[in-house]
Amino acid sequence: MDETILEETRLDDTKKYDTVVKMLHERGVTLSEIAELTFDLQKEYVSDLTQEICLEHVERVVMKREVQNAILTGLELDILAEKNLISEPLRSILMDDWGLYGIDEVLALAIVNVYGSIGFTNFGYVDKLKPGIIKKIDEAGKAKDKCNTFLDDLVGAIAAAAASSIAHRYA
Ligand code: MG
Repeated sequence: MDETILEETRLDDTKKYDTVVKMLHERGVTLSEIAELTFDLQKEYVSDLTQEICLEHVERVVMKREVQNAILTGLELDILAEKNLISEPLRSILMDDWGLYGIDEVLALAIVNVYGSIGFTNFGYVDKLKPGIIKKIDEAGKAKDKCNTFLDDLVGAIAAAAASSIAHRYA
């Protein structure tokens, strides 16, 4: 890739970062809330861990292009389902958060993938226990006109990826 293309791509990623953070916010989630999940995942293993360190790693995860692309795609599907802009049967599957759909988890794996096997373990843990903000997202998604099918998995995956990023740094 030549220099100008590289530079444009880099600027583009920074712009996308702002868009992604804003989108998450509009869907009811802040990076600080994701950092709280990361803190809970890693506090046992890193004795002087702080919320600030966790937030830094969450921000670093969201700077990655693969992560931004997964978030943009998943949140768009949640939003389109709410707006009734998706054909059946997919719309009902998404609106009802049908348990056997599975593509929400598969998309989120694109995020944890970046950080190797610790990421998978952490993601499985969050997906099973549904701590903190994840539970809030799930509950909110049960409202008739609301769809959080992708949001919960994306948030869990970002938290898990940030936990893995911390583990790689301090282990
Ligand atoms: Mg889901």
